[in-house]
Order: sequence, then C-alpha cells, then structure tokens
Amino acid sequence: MTHGEADYDVIVVGAGIGGIYAVHRFARQGLSVLGIEGASGVGGVWYHNRYPGARVDVDSIDYCYYFSTQIWQQWRWTERFAAQPEILAYLDFVADSFGVKQRFVFGTWVTSAQWRGDTVRYHVTTSTGLSVSCRFLVMATGQLSAARRPEFPGLERFRGEWVRTSHWPERGVGLDGRRIGIIGTGSSGVQAIPVLAQYAKHLHVFQRTANYVVPARTAPIGAAVQRGIAGQLGDERELLLATRGGTRIPVGARPLSHFSPAEQVAILERQWESGGQAMNSLFSDQSTNQESNDVVAEFVRRKVREIVRDPGLAETLCPSSYPIGTRRLCLDIGYYETFNRDNVTLIDLRCDPIAEITETGIRTQTAHHELDLIVFALGFRAFTGALDKIHIRNERGAAPTDGWARGPRTLLGLMTTGFPNLFLPTGPGSPSVLGNLFLQNEFLMDWIGDCIGYLDARGFTTIEPSEAAQDVWTAQVAEAASRLLRLRVDNYMVHVNADDKSRVFIPYTGGFDRYVRAARDTAARGYEGFVLS
Ligand SMILES: Cc1cc2nc3c(=O)[nH]c(=O)nc-3n(C[C@H](O)[C@H](O)[C@H](O)COP(=O)(O)OP(=O)(O)OC[C@H]3O[C@@H](n4cnc5c(N)ncnc54)[C@H](O)[C@@H]3O)c2cc1C
Repeated sequence: MTHGEADYDVIVVGAGIGGIYAVHRFARQGLSVLGIEGASGVGGVWYHNRYPGARVDVDSIDYCYYFSTQIWQQWRWTERFAAQPEILAYLDFVADSFGVKQRFVFGTWVTSAQWRGDTVRYHVTTSTGLSVSCRFLVMATGQLSAARRPEFPGLERFRGEWVRTSHWPERGVGLDGRRIGIIGTGSSGVQAIPVLAQYAKHLHVFQRTANYVVPARTAPIGAAVQRGIAGQLGDERELLLATRGGTRIPVGARPLSHFSPAEQVAILERQWESGGQAMNSLFSDQSTNQESNDVVAEFVRRKVREIVRDPGLAETLCPSSYPIGTRRLCLDIGYYETFNRDNVTLIDLRCDPIAEITETGIRTQTAHHELDLIVFALGFRAFTGALDKIHIRNERGAAPTDGWARGPRTLLGLMTTGFPNLFLPTGPGSPSVLGNLFLQNEFLMDWIGDCIGYLDARGFTTIEPSEAAQDVWTAQVAEAASRLLRLRVDNYMVHVNADDKSRVFIPYTGGFDRYVRAARDTAARGYEGFVLS
C-alpha cells in the first residue's frame, strides 16, 4: 500500500498487541487508518525484548487475542508460558491474517502531534519526514516501551560489548565462553540469568534488590484445551472480562487467618508445585495485611534457603526489602539453582556498589570484575516515557502530561482533559500492567471504535473528558489503592509527589471486572463524563 493520502480518520502509533488489533478493528469498521511503528516489524514488547529466556508470565491461553475464532482454530500454543519467539510469531501471524502490516509504516518514529481546532485534526510528523493528519490519534505506544538508558560512569570507555535486554539486537549476541556481567534482577534479569549462565565462561550477577522469584512450571498444553476455548470463544472472553485481572489465575476468597498453620503451608506448597502468578493471590488479605503477607514471603525465603547451597549466598538472594506481590512477581525456570553453579558470582550492590565501568569490566567499591559482555536489565520509564518522547501539543501549547505533576489525571486511563480525540489505551488510571494486556487492549480498542462510530453517527467531531469526571475517576483510582501494601513500596507503579512525599498508585487496582463495567456503563450512558461537541 502506498500512503499517498495525507489525511486519515485514525492514526495508531505502535504495532504491539494493542496497535495490531486497533488497526484491524478500525479498518473493519470502515475508517481510514494508518499505523506508525518505530521498529521494523510488529510485536512491540515482544519485538524489542528478544533476550535469552524471555517468556510470558501469565498463561499463554489467557495472554492472547479473543476476538477471532479463526485465529483460535489456526494457532496452537505449545507451552503454558510461551517463550518470546513463539509470541512474536503469533503476533506476526495475526497481523498477516488480517492484512494489518499493509496499513502500517515501519521504521518510522512519531516525533510530534499538534492538535488544531480549525482543522479538527492532529497533524503528525515523523522521523522519516512523513507528514500526516488524523481526526483521532490512538497512542498504542505501550506502558513499558521506553527503556531506561544505562547511566554508569565510564560506560563509554568499555572495550567489550554491552546490550540492553529491552533492545536485544536482532542479529543475536555471542554468549559462548564469554565473561558476562548482568546488572538488574527484575523480571527480565531473572529470566535471562539461568540461560546466560549456561553459555558464559563466567556470569557476574549485580543485584541491587533481591526479588521474589517463584517457579513458572511451564509445560506443554494440549490441543484439546485450546479447541475447547475456541468452541465457545465469546463466552470465554466474557468470563475473562469478569475476573479481577482478566486471566484464569485463581484468587483466594478467604483470608490467611481462616486456615490453620498446617493448612497454610499445604496451600503454599501446592502453589509452589503448580507454579505461576497465583502465589500472589492465595489468601484474600495478602495484599493488604502485612502479617498475612509475611507468611507467604517467609515461605518463599524458606524455599530459597533450601535451594541455594551456600547459606550466605542464600541470605543475599532472600527478598526482604518489600512485601511479596508489591512489585511484579518474577517467574523462573531454575533461577535460584543457577547460583549453585561454579561459574556464577553474585555481587550484592547494597554492600558493594558499582563505582565505575572500566575499559575491561565493572569496578565495585571492593573489586574489579573482568568482562567481555555487559547486559543491562534496567527496566523502563514506565507509563509516560513513550508519550513524553513525542511532542504532543494542544492549541494552548500544553503536553498531555503537563498537569500530572501530582500524579496522572485521566478518565478511565483512556483520555485526559484538554486533549480532544487523543486516546491513551491502557494508560495511567486503567488496570494497565496489572491486567491481561491482550484482553485489555482488545476491549479498549473496541470501546474507542464504538465511540468513534457513536460520534460520527451523531455529527459530533470531538470528545474529551470533563474536568469534573476526570477528578472523580482520579479519586476512585486513589481510593482503590489506598489500603494496598504496594502503595508504600517504591517502584515504577507508584508516583511520589516531590513536595509532601504523598503517593499515587498509577494503575487502577479496583479490578479488571469493575473497570470493564465502568467503561461499558459510561458508553451506555452516551459517554457520560466526556464532553462531546
Ligand atoms: C520484557 C517484558 C515482558 C513482559 N511480560 C509480560 C507478561 O509476561 N505478561 C503480561 O501481562 N505483560 C507483560 N509485559 C507487559 C507488556 O508491556 C504488555 O503485555 C504488552 O506487550 C503491551 O503491548 P502494547 O501493544 O500495549 O505495547 P508495546 O508492546 O509496548 O508496543 C508499543 C509499540 O509502540 C512503539 N512506539 C513507541 N513510541 C513510538 C513512537 N514515538 N513512534 C512509533 N512507534 C512507537 C514501540 O516501538 C512498540 O513497538 C511485559 C513487558 C516487558 C517489557
């Protein structure tokens, strides 16, 4: 397809899970749509994060599209927790099945988007000189797509190779027989470390925070299960939309105190054996009650001490600086076992911080570690990073995040006041990274498509949240998180106000089910809370 026409109904930025479905959905509805993606292919997170060991941490049969029976009949997941190449192949397959790629320009970064009231359009410019405009701008740029840059003194001097897990080179990276250092032990680091250790001559793991890691227990999944879902896809989708996280992960209905100590241990042991994220939701009060949380956390620490043979090493690996589940729980395949290998060294950065990177390795305060390759697994400028990289402006010259100094302000995490026709699906104030992002993106792109249909049918040209409705939703987001232990823990989901150190939890924690109901009710009441003009 040539992109001769400069004006579109909708421009979708990003070709991840959200962007792929958005472009398909809006085109199917008869809108003219252009997708713009900076990378050279579809996949988003699963395109960029090709590091060894990368895989999904919720079940593959939950973490996939539910809009097409055809896809369910033609695609078979091989594993309970699919690895990155399989997810990328799936996204490629879906995009090809619906002719999505032809509607995208790749290798093109959106650099600015200016709203103009006289044209009632966003005028969009890109890194390649493409200049286009649209009535509706949909930012499917993801919440975890702007990676942190490594900022260590001396990095420019390093004569070896360095890479980021978040932008693992497509050409691959030689690992065999090399002295490798990895900085970061969050979800990506935990997945990469066991694989790097298999290839490295020696692996040096630089740990700042010990995180909770529980077994994934990935396993083949049978065709029958998948055929069963495909046979009643609409019902299965509605069932998922009515859960707290948009997944089949079981959620305990009773508090820890309901069970005797022996029963508690039996429940925890069963979960350790079956694997997966349910360790976070065994007891109804473990996310709000410190004592209940302590029991689950201590159970995991006991497992670490059982697995890791060197008691000192085990203590360094034992997570103790935050309650379990208040940061993303990491799933592993042999993480703690890796530290029993002779070719793996753990450096505890709390006691021995990095002083500098040298020409030949990393110098901590007490030692120099000779390295051929440094892997940075440092995380992302979450939620606003990708948005802020783009010069999005309204007619007053303001950016969407300008008014967010005391935390994000949105209605349903979808739109922000002052920015007509700008959609931020899965943005701050939506369940976002706490909910199944396939289902959530699908639901929200349907919501946006229906909304555009509603406006067009009634002759409205713009929509944006009213200030009052945005205030109410922002207050509801805060209220939902107010009792959670995780509000007290510093991590990328918590915004800490600079002046009084008060805290704002960024995603909506009231549950995916409640969120879906709120979004549906709003639409059913003629987009109540939004100003249509
Ligand atoms: C390493 C990693 C592992 C994850 N694992 C899980 C998991 O196991 N389970 C889970 O539920 N979630 C997981 N997530 C969360 C993940 O973000 C979502 O599940 C999902 O992939 C998000 O899809 P998306 O389409 O919303 O955004 P993304 O996949 O982030 O796609 C956004 C796209 O926008 C593009 N883009 C950004 N800015 C611009 C611009 N200015 N111009 C053009 N293009 C632009 C990016 O290049 C990217 O391709 C993981 C995230 C990461 C980083």
